Amino acid sequence: MPVNDKPRRPRPNPLSTILLLLPLGLLILNLVLTFGNSPRVSKVPYSFFLEQVQDGDVARVSVGQDIIRYQLKGTEGNIGQVQETTPIFDLELPKVLEANDVEFAATPPAGNRWFTTLLGWVIPPIIFVAIFRFFSRGGIGGGGPQGALSVTKNKAKVYVEGDDNKVTFDDVAGVEESKAELEEIVEFLQSPQRFTEIGAKIPKGVLLVGPPGTGKTLMAKAVAGEAGVPFFSISGSEFVELFVGTGAARVRDLFEQAKKKAPCIIFIDELDAIGKSRAGGNGFVGGNDEREQTLNQLLTEMDGFGAGDATVIVLAATNRPETLDPALLRPGRFDRQVLVDRPDLTGRLAILEIYAKKVKLGENVDLKAMATRTPGFAGADLANLVNEAALLAARRGSKVVETQDFAEAIERVVAGLEKKSRVLNDKEKKIVAYHEVGHALVGAKMSGTDQVEKISIVPRGMAALGYTLQVPTEDRFLLNESELKGQIATLLGGRAAEEVIFGSITTGASNDLQRATDLAEQMVTSYGMSEVLGPLAYDKGQQNNFLGGGMNARRMVSDETAKAIDKEVKGIVEAAHQEALSILKENKELLEMISQQLLESEVIEGNSLREMLSKVHPEVHVQPEQHAQETQKPLAV
Ligand code: ADP
Ligand code: MG
Ligand code: ZN
Repeated sequence: MPVNDKPRRPRPNPLSTILLLLPLGLLILNLVLTFGNSPRVSKVPYSFFLEQVQDGDVARVSVGQDIIRYQLKGTEGNIGQVQETTPIFDLELPKVLEANDVEFAATPPAGNRWFTTLLGWVIPPIIFVAIFRFFSRGGIGGGGPQGALSVTKNKAKVYVEGDDNKVTFDDVAGVEESKAELEEIVEFLQSPQRFTEIGAKIPKGVLLVGPPGTGKTLMAKAVAGEAGVPFFSISGSEFVELFVGTGAARVRDLFEQAKKKAPCIIFIDELDAIGKSRAGGNGFVGGNDEREQTLNQLLTEMDGFGAGDATVIVLAATNRPETLDPALLRPGRFDRQVLVDRPDLTGRLAILEIYAKKVKLGENVDLKAMATRTPGFAGADLANLVNEAALLAARRGSKVVETQDFAEAIERVVAGLEKKSRVLNDKEKKIVAYHEVGHALVGAKMSGTDQVEKISIVPRGMAALGYTLQVPTEDRFLLNESELKGQIATLLGGRAAEEVIFGSITTGASNDLQRATDLAEQMVTSYGMSEVLGPLAYDKGQQNNFLGGGMNARRMVSDETAKAIDKEVKGIVEAAHQEALSILKENKELLEMISQQLLESEVIEGNSLREMLSKVHPEVHVQPEQHAQETQKPLAV
C-alpha cells in the first residue's frame, strides 16, 4: 500500500461524534442500573436506626460506604422490613451492633461500582480529546506537520476573488499618489512574467505608512480586489499571543499557505507590533524575546521566497514607521514605502462623493463646502461624517440628508476629535499659513536648502499643523558651512514670519527650534566649523553605525569650553534668525500674497509655487560666493 503522508482531516469526523456520545450513553446506563437495583425501601434517619438497634428490632445490617441497609426482625413468619439510612462516621457502630446481637457485614462492592470507576477514568480524557479535536478543526486550510497542535496555526483571514464586498481602487479616493504606486503592484501580480522575463525582480514588500484612518487597510484590500488574487490579512499583534514561540511558527505557517496560493498578497496590518526596532527601548537588556523571534522569522521568510517561482507580495501598514527595525526596511524586504497621507481639499471632496453616493442626498447639499470645512479629516473621519449626517437626518424624520445635518455632524465629529484630528480655528490657520510661507521664502532664498515643492496647511498626522515640503534636487553627501547655515535659517523662517507679521510668537515653532539648535550644535561640536573652538570634535562620535541614534554624548570638556560651545551655538542660531528676519522683511508683500493664497487653497505646489517663489528676490538662485563671504566674518556674538 502506498504511504499517504498527507495529513488526513475528515471534516464531519464520525469518530469524535461517537466519542462524544459514548459518555452520555454510559451515564444513562449507570443511572438506570442504579435505580433498577434498588428495591423499595424506606429511608430513615441514622439516630432512628441506632434506636432500633438498641431496642433489638434489627436482625442484620449491611454496612456500606455511603449506605447502611438493614433488615428488621420478622414477626411470626413475616420477613422483616428492609430499611436504609445514610451512615455518619461512627467507629463505635460495630461495638453497638455486637452488643445488641445484630448480624452485620460490610457491603461487597456494588454491582454498578465498576461503572463509576470506569466513568471516572474514562470520561475526562474523552472530553479532553473531544474538545481538542473541536478546536483543531477551527483553523483554515489543510494541516501542516504540526497536526493537532493547532496553536501554531495562523489566524489570517483570507479574502478570495469573487467576494461580494470586493474592494477596488474606485472605493479609495484622495490619495492618488499612493494609488498610482499600488497600481504598479497590481501589474506585478497580474503579469509577473512581463517583469521577470527581462530579469527584473519583483518587489517583495511594500510598506504603507501614514496616520490612522487614511485608508491603508482599505488600499491593501483594493490591491487584492484589483489583482483578483487571494489576500491573507493578519494583524501584527495576532502573531504574538498566549504561547511563547507561536509567533514565529505562525509566520512560517502563513508564508507556507501563501506560497501554495501564489500569486497572492500577504497583508500585515499594524506591522509595528512585531517590527519594533530591536535596538529600541532599554537596549540589549531584557528585550521582548518573543517579538524578536517573530520578527526574525518574518525577515527570514521574506528573504526565503521570491526567485521566480511564486509571486507573493507582502503589504504591510503602520503609522509608526520611525519605530520599525531598520532591518525590515532594507532592500529585499520592505524596500518600497508608500505614504498614505491625510487628504487635501480635492481629496476630501472625492472621498465625500464616494460616501455621499451611499446615502440619499438633498438637492442643495454642497459637498465642496463640506470638504472646505473639514481640513485635517482623514478618510475614516469623512466616512464617519457622512454616516453621522445620515443618522441625524433619519432622527429628524427627513427622507434625505440635508446641509444642516452635515453641519451638525461636522460639529460633533470636530468636538469629539478635537485633539485627534487637530482642526484649526481661523486665527490659528492664518498663523500656520504665514509660518509655512516663511519657511518657504527663506528656503527659496538660501543656498544649501532643498527646493521647496509644496506648502500645505492641512494638519499632518505625526506632529505638524502645516508643512513645507522640500525635495532634494540631487544627492548630497557633503554640506558646507553656508549651506548648513541656510538650513538653520530656513528652519527659523517660520518663527521669523510670525514675528514679522504678528509681532508675537506661538508655540508652533518648537520643533523647528529644536532642529535648528541641533544643527548648530553639530556644526560646532562635530564638524569643527567654529573659529573660536577650532577643528576639534567635542562629541564622542557615532556610537552605533548600523542602528543610528540621536545626538552623541559630549566629551569631557572644561567649564570654559562648555561655555564657549554654548555661546557659539547661540551665535549661529541667532545670526540665522536675523538673516531670516531680514529676508522676510524685504519680501513682506510676497509673504502676504502667498499666505493669502495658501489660506484659500490649503495647498500650493508644483509650478505655481515655483513661480511665486521665483519672485522672492532679483537673484533667486543664490550666489554661493556672497554667502561664503558672509560666513567668513567672525560671528558677532
Ligand atoms: P487605516 O488602515 O489607514 O487606519 P482604514 O483603511 O482602516 O484606515 O480606513 C477605515 C475606513 O475609513 C475605511 O474602511 C473606509 O471606509 C474609510 N476610508 C479611509 N480612507 C479612505 C479613502 N482614502 N477613501 C475612501 N474611504 C476611506
Ligand atoms: Mg488599518
Ligand atoms: Zn515650522
